[in-house]
Amino acid sequence: VSAIDELTAEFAKLPGIGRKTATRLTYHLLKQPRATVVQLARAVQGVADRVGSCSACGNYSESDPCVLCLDPKRDPRVLCVVEEAFDIEAIEQTGEFRGLYHVLGGHLSPLDGIGPDELRIGALTERLNNGTRVEEVIVATNPSMEGEVTATYLRGVLAPVGVRITRIALGLPVGGDLGYADKVTIAQALSARREMSA
Ligand SMILES: [Zn+2]
Repeated sequence: VSAIDELTAEFAKLPGIGRKTATRLTYHLLKQPRATVVQLARAVQGVADRVGSCSACGNYSESDPCVLCLDPKRDPRVLCVVEEAFDIEAIEQTGEFRGLYHVLGGHLSPLDGIGPDELRIGALTERLNNGTRVEEVIVATNPSMEGEVTATYLRGVLAPVGVRITRIALGLPVGGDLGYADKVTIAQALSARREMSA
């Protein structure tokens, strides 16, 4: 395989990038100074080499625990549960949430073989049971059918723990992805959260 074909094939594996765009990206890089291309390769390598995940919250991080979990200014009494680490970034952009996070790593999807054991749900209950100071769990799974099913499942699992369970308001477009919503929408969804506790 030629170097051009190889890079184009790699680009084409990325989400939202078709064959045509992949080719355009490759030819764009070919036109750039060598240093620019090497810098991109180094950045990609850096993500692969240096980024791992936080054993407490599941967020991507270069340290374990991550900077969010270690920040003494964060409120350990409120825990926001999200599907993907990508969602944390979106919620942080709002500047409205000062608690801690827990990344599930996806949502329940029996048809795709994703059950509770494939998500970080055990780690969540363990975290809540092991003497943490969490008083409220905000379930911020996506406003999709799978996100709702996951939220309902979590309520069942978390009920015996005895914490307050809330769900973000679904002013978010249904079927949408929290990570793609704008700041104002996410801030509203958080502040208008409703009780899930029975
Ligand atoms: Zn963390």
